[in-house]
Amino acid sequence: MALDIPQNSPYANVLAHKAEIEAAMARVLASGWYILGEEVAAFEREFAAFLDVPHAVGVASGTDAIHIALRGLGIGAGDLVATVSHTAVATVAAIELAGAAPLLADIDPETYTMDPASLQSVMGPKVKAIIPVHLYGHPAALAPILKIAESYGAAVIEDCAQSHGAKLDGRATGTWGRVGAFSFYPTKNLGALGDGGAVVTSDAGLAARIRSLREYGWRERYVSSEAGLNSRLDEMQAAILRVKLRYLELENARRREIALWYGELLADLPLTLPTVADGATHVFHQYVVRTVRRDALREHLKQSSIGALIHYPVPVHLQPAYRDRVTRADSLAATEAAAREVLSLPMYPELRRDQVERVCAAVRGFFTGRAAR
Ligand SMILES: *Cc1c(COP(=O)(O)O)cnc(C)c1O
Repeated sequence: MALDIPQNSPYANVLAHKAEIEAAMARVLASGWYILGEEVAAFEREFAAFLDVPHAVGVASGTDAIHIALRGLGIGAGDLVATVSHTAVATVAAIELAGAAPLLADIDPETYTMDPASLQSVMGPKVKAIIPVHLYGHPAALAPILKIAESYGAAVIEDCAQSHGAKLDGRATGTWGRVGAFSFYPTKNLGALGDGGAVVTSDAGLAARIRSLREYGWRERYVSSEAGLNSRLDEMQAAILRVKLRYLELENARRREIALWYGELLADLPLTLPTVADGATHVFHQYVVRTVRRDALREHLKQSSIGALIHYPVPVHLQPAYRDRVTRADSLAATEAAAREVLSLPMYPELRRDQVERVCAAVRGFFTGRAAR
């Protein structure tokens, strides 16, 4: 049964830009060219300009963006790559796709992003890259992380799958490290209508290598200079992303406004609300609250026909595929506590004030024991 207020709604965003998306799709249909063409090239230029970074390379997904960035940097078998356990499993899957081994650090309990002290505790000479995740749209603590990376000669790859347009000290996430890796999965702040991703960098040589790796290692068509893979962005997704990119700044501002409404309407409840670090521009991919009564609150919202999701219920180091073999920091206490207590309330730019009020009334009803509707 459809919920009155879903947690997310890619379709609402399609409806908001329907005429322009249909025109873009018709243009691609009529062009007769469907993979890696003018739309992809134009999107790469426009996305790079949006972030203020010299190079963007479209790929097939966010997972591939991280995987290919690692390969482009020559990181693979025998190398360790440090990241967090409180993330989409894709971050860790990408490390293993490149042939490297993940090394999991704990998070800061306030921002839910990589804890630099925990990172420091796992660093060693085999760590060739560090992947901070700008989870929920909040930038990770890039300054201390970059400092640690520099002292070990490790490359920083930013996982920006949830942080399109987020900034730290006025500079976009994805432009601080050697590489930024983006996903355009339909529910992301900048979402396609299928899979897509991008790698951004200011290193021209690295951009060229990644461009070649995404299509069989070709520099010249049909001739592989090195062994690559098939990870291309298609023209349809690029054309759709060009439309949506024009509204990203506005829609991120709208998400911040919705977050302000939540903050104002939930302030007096026994619930931990998101914090925004000094200098950070949050883009609220998710609006995440925290309570030890999380599962009961989620059920209560469901009874009120309101969607809420858990990002993420099982940390990577406790998932069946990884738990017996993954290398990790001694303590992942903040990660495990977050997995038990976080709840993502409805958040998408088309959410209206009256809907936010209804969500907040239902949350209030849960804590005050009054039925909400
Ligand atoms: C969505 C996501 C990814 C993976 O992106 P795909 O396009 O689904 O492969 C990676 N990391 C994080 C943090 C994500 O949220």
